[in-house]
Amino acid sequence: MARRKKVYEGKAKILYEGPEPGTLVQYFKDDATAFNAEKRATIDGKGVLNNRLSEFFMSGLNAIGVPTHFIRRINMREQLIRAVEIIPLEVVVRNVAAGSLAKRLGLEEGTALPRPIVEFYFKNDELGDPLVSEEHIIAFGWASQQDLDDMVALALRVNDFLSGLMLGVGIRLVDFKIEIGRIWEGDFMRLIVADEISPDSCRLWDIETGRKLDKDVFRRDLGDLADAYTEVARRLGVMPSNGTGVQKPTLIN
Ligand code: UDP
Repeated sequence: MARRKKVYEGKAKILYEGPEPGTLVQYFKDDATAFNAEKRATIDGKGVLNNRLSEFFMSGLNAIGVPTHFIRRINMREQLIRAVEIIPLEVVVRNVAAGSLAKRLGLEEGTALPRPIVEFYFKNDELGDPLVSEEHIIAFGWASQQDLDDMVALALRVNDFLSGLMLGVGIRLVDFKIEIGRIWEGDFMRLIVADEISPDSCRLWDIETGRKLDKDVFRRDLGDLADAYTEVARRLGVMPSNGTGVQKPTLIN
């Protein structure tokens, strides 16, 4: 039997050649990494949950006219996506001070920001994804001024959509990261949301208790990551129909 071709393997996902030109299959692994892959673990069921959650967020975005790479889910761990040319930037939107922003500016984690702040980080593991300004991005040709304006607009629309969804289920969207890619349609280029949107790339805090429901649970050893992601999926009504693979054995007396 022919083996499908692996196009790329990252820390949490694998990309395979898709069934048609211009498509890829995105496979979600159970691997978790943090601190530029210095901390690693395998968390049963994480890939299944992130596949489902990313499908949920991306198909919602598609439905409100925010273009994404998502086409359809194939199975528990795989989805069909449009192949894009990834812009080498991580686009972070923040509503509340946390993580590297809190550290860099000496803000207390949890301080509400006066308005959403959009930041860009250059995607480069060797350099630890440094923060860059629009000046750097244009000078080094990673994106044009028009692209930057479009990226900020896309990121803010994603922020409004996700913030509202989360608020509806009692979760505060503190911050998140997206990646954006280019697709070509004839002579025209468009920017679309790519990669994934999941609790791996967001900070999600329970509004009532402040409980963290995102990858900080793993980064900061705060408990069971799959439990936290399952809680997000449960609240959003995104539970896999035939199990997540995260059920734990129960002791029968
Ligand atoms: N983030 C991410 N991948 C990265 C860096 C950050 O998904 O390589 C997400 C992170 O989960 C958080 C947001 O981007 O939701 C802002 O992260 P921050 O800059 O505070 O960095 P961190 O504290 O994670 O190092």
